[in-house]
Amino acid sequence: MNYDQTNIFAKILRGEIPCTKVYEDAHTLAFMDIMPQADGHVLVLPKAPSTNLLDADPATFAPLFATVQKVARAVKTGMGADGVVITQFNGAAAGQTVFHLHVHIIPRWEGIALRRHSGQMEQMDVLKAHAEKIIAAL
Ligand code: 5GP
Repeated sequence: MNYDQTNIFAKILRGEIPCTKVYEDAHTLAFMDIMPQADGHVLVLPKAPSTNLLDADPATFAPLFATVQKVARAVKTGMGADGVVITQFNGAAAGQTVFHLHVHIIPRWEGIALRRHSGQMEQMDVLKAHAEKIIAAL
């Protein structure tokens, strides 16, 4: 595995840089995406290191997707979304920009287009307000 311990999500997992956390357990961490494609866009990471889904230990997936389901339900309820998109990118050519396995949870509303992937930075107070709605629904 070609895992770089200095990637930004490894630093967040080690507590070296901050994140707007919505959920954490022994195996996973979920926090607000800093450049959300929609209001309430959350990332879920396994704590175990792998660059993406292709080089991960399959034992990673049960706790990871248990958290994805738990948080996706809270995103839908807390944000009042009509639906939720789950995405996950493997390799730069597939759109991956941070090389620690992560799953995107993106709420959708009828008639509202998605914003660009890795587009514009959101204000911290806005991310915090969305996180509070999601946490309240967990
Ligand atoms: P990828 O393209 O690798 O699937 O997604 C990486 C995601 O991480 C992007 O949606 C991007 O907005 C988000 N991101 C990049 N750097 C940071 C950061 O420092 N903090 C947070 N919370 N999200 C980040």
